[in-house]
Amino acid sequence: MQDVILLTGAGKGIGKAIALNFSLKAQNNPSFNPVLVLCSRTYGDIAALADECKALGTTAVPVEADIARLDDIDRLVDLTLQEFGTIDCLVNNAGVGRFKNLAEITEEDFDYTMSVNMKGTFFLTQKVFPVMESKRSGHIFFITSIAAEMAFKSSSVYSMSKFGQKGLLEALRHYGRECNVRITNVMPGAVYTPMWGEAANELKPVMMMPEDIARPVVDAYLQPARTSVEEIVLRPVGGDINS
Ligand code: NAP
Repeated sequence: MQDVILLTGAGKGIGKAIALNFSLKAQNNPSFNPVLVLCSRTYGDIAALADECKALGTTAVPVEADIARLDDIDRLVDLTLQEFGTIDCLVNNAGVGRFKNLAEITEEDFDYTMSVNMKGTFFLTQKVFPVMESKRSGHIFFITSIAAEMAFKSSSVYSMSKFGQKGLLEALRHYGRECNVRITNVMPGAVYTPMWGEAANELKPVMMMPEDIARPVVDAYLQPARTSVEEIVLRPVGGDINS
């Protein structure tokens, strides 16, 4: 049996680590046969990652798509269903952040953040959920953030979008419980990824690494279907980076 896993924001950072961890887990578990549909806006990233996953023995397909565009969402889901027949797991990982003081946030910053983190995540989930609902099984992960529960000075719009994702997933959980669809809210603190730009190098000693997030996500997916890991909170051992 195949597990068809649709993963957004797979080209870099946490998404890439999750894809690789699914592949590594499958190497040691003959009954786990993941098929990875890898989405991001940069084809080169996901094509290279698909090659890495294939080298580990996993079927992996890169699909270039911008989740902020509803036509791309339709194409991504339709293509996955045409090719593989179903979707067992959706990892809503694609996300963007513009970290600035309140007065410096522009309308473009606001619209860009909301179009990916809120609109894209909502409409992709809305399109995939009925596939899982109709077969009464499935698992949807939301890689939100600790910023979905607490705000920092430079993260006003980012936090709005992440609080919003938390609102969506908590509403969705009411639907999921009626049809055995598991909903997991993954809330990491600071992780060393390209999202942090140049600041990452200086902050690396006080950050987690992407694979630290990937491992518990894949473990949560591999729990027996009767068990839902509802929340995963992960922080650097020294606590949050306040900025
Ligand atoms: P990252 O290194 O910037 O990677 C983000 C990935 O998402 C990239 O592959 C990017 O590729 C893709 N992406 C962005 N916008 C997209 C869109 N509209 N459509 C499709 N793909 C898109 O970020 P990350 O740090 O791994 O973050 C992943 C998730 O974890 C985000 O939701 C983020 O908010 C969350 N998170 C991160 C941290 C952290 O400290 N890094 C902490 C907590 C939560 P393209 O630009 O090529 O599309």
